[in-house]
Amino acid sequence: EVRVRFAPSPTGFLHLGGLRTALYNYIFAKKYGGAFILRLEDTDQSRLVPGAAESIEDMLEWAGIPPDESPRRGGPVGPYLQSQRLDLYRQTAQQLVESGHAYCCFCSAQRLELLKKEALRSGQTPRYDNRCRHLRADQVHEKLARGAPHVIRFRLEAGIEPFQDLIFGWNRHEVAQVEGDPVVIKADGFPTYHLANIVDDHHMRVSHVLRGSEWLISTAKHLLMYRALGWKPPTFGHLPLLMNKDGSKLSKRQGDIFVQSFQRDGVLPDALLDITTNCGSGFNTNRMGRRIDELISEFNPSKITTHSALLDLEKLPEFNRIHLQLRIEDEDQCTLLVKDLQERIQQVYEEEIQDEDYIRRVLHLRKGHISSLQELVSPNYSYLWVRPSISSQQVAALTAEAQHIASLVLKLMEVQGEQLTLDQLSKDLKRLSKQTKATKYRDVMKLLRLALSGLQQGPSVAEMMVSLGPAEISHRFQKLLL
Ligand code: GLU
Repeated sequence: EVRVRFAPSPTGFLHLGGLRTALYNYIFAKKYGGAFILRLEDTDQSRLVPGAAESIEDMLEWAGIPPDESPRRGGPVGPYLQSQRLDLYRQTAQQLVESGHAYCCFCSAQRLELLKKEALRSGQTPRYDNRCRHLRADQVHEKLARGAPHVIRFRLEAGIEPFQDLIFGWNRHEVAQVEGDPVVIKADGFPTYHLANIVDDHHMRVSHVLRGSEWLISTAKHLLMYRALGWKPPTFGHLPLLMNKDGSKLSKRQGDIFVQSFQRDGVLPDALLDITTNCGSGFNTNRMGRRIDELISEFNPSKITTHSALLDLEKLPEFNRIHLQLRIEDEDQCTLLVKDLQERIQQVYEEEIQDEDYIRRVLHLRKGHISSLQELVSPNYSYLWVRPSISSQQVAALTAEAQHIASLVLKLMEVQGEQLTLDQLSKDLKRLSKQTKATKYRDVMKLLRLALSGLQQGPSVAEMMVSLGPAEISHRFQKLLL
């Protein structure tokens, strides 16, 4: 049974890198009929950010990759919040102490600091010198009885625990040679990431750990813990990192990379999922416009390479344009877009547009041209939702020829049926401008655009007219007649 997990720490809000890790886990689970788990690793209490835990789950739901098991949804192996599983970690640490794989360490913060300074001075990487490994049992008892503050450290065995990573291949990392014994339970009784992570992956029956490649180096340590506990480890696959186009760290990017801010700016979740997978590997080919079901069907884990994925956010509007078009073409999704747009119109123009077919028609006409719904409520499109105001002076200033043109348009609307088509209308407008003597085609169009929208520039006049429909066009032209 395939069971994968996304295990963020709620020490910050979900950003694009995290979203991508979650997404690969989600796709993997769905591809192999397994479960996708959200587990929140909130053991570093001092770094918790209020609201982050809630928001991470919200964002996964918004993105359309909801977990099957999570703090909010619950599930068979919960709780899914590490701070609610402290007993389990303590028991496991106790088990490790009893079997001789872990020990109490009473070294003071000052001593550790001193060790670190000395190492740095002689150009070495700081590491704990494992001093408390060698305490006698009676010394330990005496200190514990006194209530001396202490941590629990895992005894790293010398030797290599080779493992085959799904993406990075064989890994032979001799961890005891480079690191001191790691802390598994901190002085405050909370577990460290390393312990809590493996305890949960074991008890949550995680089959595959797919996580960022920054954790590759920790895996050897985790495997030693699995062995000490007599547990079968999951399969590991470390995902290459998501970077900026120029290869710099994503977190160092100027501007927001938080999923919430993309949501706020009207970016479609499909576009975000598409862009974060498109710049990386894991598919036979890369193409724009994949939606989640296609991401699942086209996913091929053996195609994930070790190269980092370079994200080009300048392409985001284009991804959004493509996905907006796909949504407009899907009837159910389009209904949701209509509602969304109605709210935006209400907000910007304080105007309630009841006619849903009208909004639908506008969406279909503009698809492929707009990259967000918000664009449709910008001043350029205001003519769609409010009538342009044309003053009586402006009307009085119109020439007799302009009046004549307006009356021609009105006549045209009388003969046109309810549904105007772009093709027909373009022809009609050409014919109409031939009937005017003094005014050139271009100037006729200018006049029409002004009457329809109050704008000098914008979409083609024919498209404006198809959007507005004969009744509204007539209303706007009527005003031009003296
Ligand atoms: N809590 C870790 C993180 O924030 C999880 C790493 C893992 O998936 O094992 O990245």
